[in-house]
Amino acid sequence: HRTVDPYADESERAAEAVLRPASLAEFNGQPRVSDQLGLVLAAARQRDAVADHVLLSGPPGLGKTTLAMIIAAEMSAPLRISSGPAIQHAGDLAAILSGLSEGEVLFLDEIHRMSRPAEELLYLAMEDFRVDVVVGKGPGATAIPIDIPRFTLVGATTRAGLLPGPLRDRFGFTAQLDFYDHTALRDILLRSAQTLGVDVVPDAAAEIARRSRGTPRITNRLLRRVRDFAQVRADGRVTLRLAQEALELFEVDHLGLDRLDRGVLEAVCRRFAGGPVGLSTLAISVGEEPETVEEVAEPFLVRQGLLMRTPRGRVATPAAWSHLGLTAPRGAPG
Ligand code: ADP
Repeated sequence: HRTVDPYADESERAAEAVLRPASLAEFNGQPRVSDQLGLVLAAARQRDAVADHVLLSGPPGLGKTTLAMIIAAEMSAPLRISSGPAIQHAGDLAAILSGLSEGEVLFLDEIHRMSRPAEELLYLAMEDFRVDVVVGKGPGATAIPIDIPRFTLVGATTRAGLLPGPLRDRFGFTAQLDFYDHTALRDILLRSAQTLGVDVVPDAAAEIARRSRGTPRITNRLLRRVRDFAQVRADGRVTLRLAQEALELFEVDHLGLDRLDRGVLEAVCRRFAGGPVGLSTLAISVGEEPETVEEVAEPFLVRQGLLMRTPRGRVATPAAWSHLGLTAPRGAPG
């Protein structure tokens, strides 16, 4: 299936797997989430119970899949991974659910993109650990209830608001992952550099962290690219100067905006005179799916104070104009 996350490339996935923290203790940068989740899991372990269902929301690359793996590890439970778009028929989900083992963790990525019938089947499964299998058609159809093993659902979504209320309400614990601060990303980078055996000087680490869009996945990806650059163009050691040159080559600017981010801002400023412009028009103009613009690019741009989402559409802020080196026309919004 097509995912909304343009960073979720297969080879990158494999490279990422090496750098995933394996326990809550190693999962840095989201202290509140770690504390709360740690407590929920410890309590379940003490009661010898299956952990409550967990909903993780936040932009791509902030650690939702990693946390699902950690939850399974901390509960010494097996993990099964699937995603909303992969489950189009309720029957697909019924098959997954009835195949789970007792206590298993089921990770459903992009859970907001599941089909409606599958969603309804999930309600009952989450609440009563039961699925209704419908046999026959029309007036003669009957629902046969089937018990399924007790399991922990870990749902991930880019925005909790995209989930229907009844589904959201069935999660016992909800965590909103936020963009990471620079210090946390620097620590993540230093740990990754150590794992990969890359020599990074401290100010280079800080610089790469600053330009990582608040996202650990991007920190690790930039580290790999800077490492390539250091290996081919220098002696492998990552100095500040070298990191800056490499980031420039890969078109990451000093705020960490990548091509998609800049494309969005430039479209709003240059083609739509600063806005307001509607999401679908904007998406067409940058050649992306609306979901990608909305769930991948915009959260960071809004967070950086470069873009505003208003009821009438997207509007560039004065900071956006100046970041692009443009002068806002008189009477421009923002
Ligand atoms: P998501 O599922 O939210 O898109 P992932 O869990 O796949 O994000 O995280 C992407 C990558 O970022 C992981 O492979 C991991 O290397 C790294 N990562 C995420 N969160 C952390 C963290 N708190 N500490 C260290 N690395 C992290």
